[in-house]
Amino acid sequence: MKNITDFTIEELKFVLADHPSFRAEQVFKWLSSGADFEHMSNIPIALKEKLKNEYYSNAVKIYKQIKSSDKSVKLLYTLNDGSFIEGIMIPQSYGNSLCVSTQAGCRMGCAFCASHLGGLSRNLTAGEIYSQVIQSNKSFPNPISKIVLMGSGEPLDNYYNTTKFIKIICEPKGLNFSQRNISLSTCGIADKIIKLADENYSVNLSLSLHATTDETRKAIMPIAKKFNLKETINAARYYFDKTGRRVSIEYVLIKGVNNTFFDAKRLKELLSNFSCHINLIMLNHVPESNLTPCTKQDAEKFLKWLTDLKLSATLRKSAGGETSSACGQLRNKFIKEK
Ligand code: SAH
Repeated sequence: MKNITDFTIEELKFVLADHPSFRAEQVFKWLSSGADFEHMSNIPIALKEKLKNEYYSNAVKIYKQIKSSDKSVKLLYTLNDGSFIEGIMIPQSYGNSLCVSTQAGCRMGCAFCASHLGGLSRNLTAGEIYSQVIQSNKSFPNPISKIVLMGSGEPLDNYYNTTKFIKIICEPKGLNFSQRNISLSTCGIADKIIKLADENYSVNLSLSLHATTDETRKAIMPIAKKFNLKETINAARYYFDKTGRRVSIEYVLIKGVNNTFFDAKRLKELLSNFSCHINLIMLNHVPESNLTPCTKQDAEKFLKWLTDLKLSATLRKSAGGETSSACGQLRNKFIKEK
């Protein structure tokens, strides 16, 4: 059995080549609403039967929902092979925002993050990424209007499936998302950032920087051994030049590691003449890691240094802290409990 949500509309037309092309469009539309084959009321019974025998449409299932006092909902999903992945739905004034995973686990090894602790299990397929949105749409009264590729995994380490997901979710005959409402967060795989720009994607790019010297970055993010700060930021500058989309710089504040006045000054130099916004994030402590968050006062002090240096920056309020929201924490907790 194959996952039918893995197909782009063109692929589905190819699969259903014996039928008029509007059939593929009808099926694609039904799939985007999360319908099972039997509920596709305008599809001939024979075709529904054929599809049912060859494909499954529910690539992920919501296994557990945990509500936080700030109204965000942490989601634990199961995949068809029994793997677990996680996400979070954050209600916002403009609509619901969904944080989705692109891999089961991660192999990037960032010292502060929980996603890599059990290594990479596998890449998610495009349909498994897409199905997280479909299932969430079915679970909450308001539709998902914004997607952030910030769950477990490194989206650019699963480039093909992540970009295929973008094509599927932006298909006008389906959920018709605009790339402006999708944000992709990366630890900085510089060559893939350039590829994304060269292939004319225009999603919002978030770059997880987290350090202002190569030495510190290498100590907490192994990807820094492959791409230095200059190459990484140059790739983000290239992305901005090509797309005109303002880049977000993610910066997790870690006590004693990256929040001195010198870090603020180096950020100013690294990001000179670059239209970006810095999102400061309080570290969500992961028990397996010896890195700890700085105090709220220190975070505010760092923010003031940045704004005094005329950098555009804000301190992000983190959602769902009490529900193990840091990437991978819920999944790890659940796998351990099992
Ligand atoms: N692999 C991608 C996307 C997943 S992580 C990336 O690295 O960007 C999404 C964001 O959460 C990244 O900025 C990541 O650095 C941050 N993050 C990971 N663990 C965290 C933690 N324990 N506390 C706060 N932020 C964390």
